[in-house]
Amino acid sequence: MIPYSCQHISETDIEAVVEVLRSDLITQGPKVPEFELAMAERCKARHAVAVSSGTAALHLACLALGLKASDWFWTVPNTFVATANVARQCGAQVDFVDIDPATGNLSLKALKKKLKQAQREKRLPKVIAPVHFAGLPCDMPALHKLACEFGFQILEDAAHALGASIGDEPIGNCRWSDITVFSFHPVKMITTGEGGMVLCNDSEFYRFMMLARSHGICRDSSEWQNDSTGPWYYEQQILGYNYRMTDIQAALGLSQSTRLDEIIKRRCALAERYSSLLSGMPLQLPYVSQEISSSWHLYVINLLNGTPQIHRELFAALRNAGIGVQLHYQPVHLQPYYAKSGFSSGDYPKAEKHSQSALSLPLYSQLTAIEQDRVIHEIQKVLE
Ligand SMILES: *Cc1c(COP(=O)(O)O)cnc(C)c1O
Repeated sequence: MIPYSCQHISETDIEAVVEVLRSDLITQGPKVPEFELAMAERCKARHAVAVSSGTAALHLACLALGLKASDWFWTVPNTFVATANVARQCGAQVDFVDIDPATGNLSLKALKKKLKQAQREKRLPKVIAPVHFAGLPCDMPALHKLACEFGFQILEDAAHALGASIGDEPIGNCRWSDITVFSFHPVKMITTGEGGMVLCNDSEFYRFMMLARSHGICRDSSEWQNDSTGPWYYEQQILGYNYRMTDIQAALGLSQSTRLDEIIKRRCALAERYSSLLSGMPLQLPYVSQEISSSWHLYVINLLNGTPQIHRELFAALRNAGIGVQLHYQPVHLQPYYAKSGFSSGDYPKAEKHSQSALSLPLYSQLTAIEQDRVIHEIQKVLE
């Protein structure tokens, strides 16, 4: 089976991990801060906090932004369930904004309309989480403008978009957002097995997330509220979690991150090759732009004028031919958990239509041209 995505672990990666395994500290050693520093520098953000998953990163970000039970949190239906779930875990109400079918990203037109209505009804969102779908950044300058006008905070779910940029601004520098979150799940741009990272420029957010990542415990004596009672002393100052990344994971991530440029270059070349070989077929190909550069986490095609029936048939034919295509995403609002809060079919027609026409083709740095040709051949066979 050719998977839709998969990790690439080099011999150097393995050596980096083994080195930690042979050392005294396999968690909370030097590798976590080294990885954080490397990512902060790469993304040009002031602060980075490594955590146990992308979902943990999203949760800490929501808590840092002060998301509470009385608040509204908006995101897109075309995402992984975790983006919305973390807001529910803070007790907040989740609502969705439809997507732009050309990109799969949040539609600014739909957002403006919804914001105006929410303003009239006095239920404006506290936080909006755009998702850089497939690695293509959302229009962040325009979103930031709306944030200033309507007073919401922006949490970038950049799980797909490590290495992407808008002009000269790398995703993660939080130029137009409050916090940005990455995932290091094996299907993502680089991996730590499980893992994630939160980037921000605000030192209050940073301090909060460093505490909350590890039970709310402060070990820095200069910040203690009470006097130390002995050499055993530490202080729990807030209610926190165990969302720590291990040094084993951080060593893997750090080693992987040195190849990020290479990985993106390879993915970009494969995506261009897909686009040239697929042109002329009844398919909508991924959006490309001069100004905005994608990390190419996914290569998503949409059937043009295809029925849900043909979509299912194409899916089945490719899977039967050993090609691990995937759907990104089933609309989150139609998951039974969200549907029970009153969402139903027809609420977000663009995201729903996308889910009935989209197909993520295999894309990862080790994919070969021969495998890619096989994928194209199988698609051709079905569409003819
Ligand atoms: C992968 C992913 C997450 C969750 O990341 P994990 O590291 O698996 O917890 C969140 N949002 C999006 C859009 C993702 O693709």
